[in-house]
Amino acid sequence: MKLCCVPVPTHAVFALTCVFVISASAQQGEVESGTRRKVKRLLSFQRYCHASRLLRGLVPHTPGSLHLLDDDYLGQAAHMLSKVGTWNFDIFLFDRLTNGNSLVTLMCHLFNVCGLIHHFQLDMVKLHRFLGMVQEDYHSQNPYHNAVHAADVTQAMYCYLKEPKLAEQLSPLDVFLGLMAAAAHDVDHPGVNQPFLIKTRHHLASLYQNTSVLESHHWRSTVGMLRESGLLSHLPADISQDMEQQLGSLILATDISRQNEFLLTFREHLDNQDLDLQLASHRHFMLQIALKCADICNPCRVWELSRQWSERVCEEFYRQGDLERKFDLEISPLCNQQADSVPAIQIGFISYIVEPLFEEWHRFTEPSLLSQTMMGHLHKNKARWSCLRCAHTPSDVQAHSHADEPNPKGGGGEGENIP
Ligand SMILES: [Zn+2]
Repeated sequence: MKLCCVPVPTHAVFALTCVFVISASAQQGEVESGTRRKVKRLLSFQRYCHASRLLRGLVPHTPGSLHLLDDDYLGQAAHMLSKVGTWNFDIFLFDRLTNGNSLVTLMCHLFNVCGLIHHFQLDMVKLHRFLGMVQEDYHSQNPYHNAVHAADVTQAMYCYLKEPKLAEQLSPLDVFLGLMAAAAHDVDHPGVNQPFLIKTRHHLASLYQNTSVLESHHWRSTVGMLRESGLLSHLPADISQDMEQQLGSLILATDISRQNEFLLTFREHLDNQDLDLQLASHRHFMLQIALKCADICNPCRVWELSRQWSERVCEEFYRQGDLERKFDLEISPLCNQQADSVPAIQIGFISYIVEPLFEEWHRFTEPSLLSQTMMGHLHKNKARWSCLRCAHTPSDVQAHSHADEPNPKGGGGEGENIP
């Protein structure tokens, strides 16, 4: 098994040490008092997650609330799960049917159908606890970066893992990591981007030296929750540590400022036809690409779903813009509701971020019905946004709009506002 090494910044040592201490001590006693547990949490890296949860005023709940639902809703949710591998899966409907538990319900189902619970001898109680923590640490107030987005990315990831070109080569560990990374890739997202965290001198920005700040936080939070839940505690330490590192490498790959780096490497592999999926390192690279595709696949969905995601992500941008205006900060690109329309933002996003990646994914998966379907939606949705922009944008704003031009590298990097 190849160890994927991810450099850990020295400034994270304190936080990491805390996590290690907690993990080690958690193994010493099965049962801890509530007070001791709270004190440990205060000392841990996870204090950010829990503090932010408290600040948000969320009442902790467990996914066990499912039993409160009407049988009819559960029946419909179960019916939807029988079609979880189809591309027109409506994650918004599924979230309503599961009473806001789409991520936990989906992950339990996928782990089951993929045989991961059996293969890794996972304890269902621990799995449920871990998934509950992950779901709860997504901010439900975020219009876009919430647990439904995570569930949507996980569902897309499952579809991609089933692509014949990949599926035939993937090991249970690859599938496990792919689904886990998808579910946790944006956990505890604050609803603002990295440049915002840097210019407001957020503690996470200094902790991660202004580099992949959010992605590092998503990964480290995931590791903390894995250890707190004890989900992998029955595995040998070297195996579970390798899993944590690989999860990190996958989640860090979703940093959109690294888009070109991954795109160029992917294109080069396809041009040279040198991808050998029998190699663990090449399979890992393809998991990174698959997760990146899943993360930005909204424009490849059917219009009705795609439109909702577009409006949500723009709403999140505009909220950041409003915050910046309120605190006399420079308004970030794409965050000015008066200047940056939803259609203009979407056309830019599709043209410069989504299309180039999915063209290569299409090339990799060929012949793939799913990729054909996605490309069809992508082109239709782009045309639809173009019509909407022409119909609704006043000519003077249209002439000055910069949202559909390539974002010159600067500030936070290209595509800095894109999820
Ligand atoms: Zn995401």
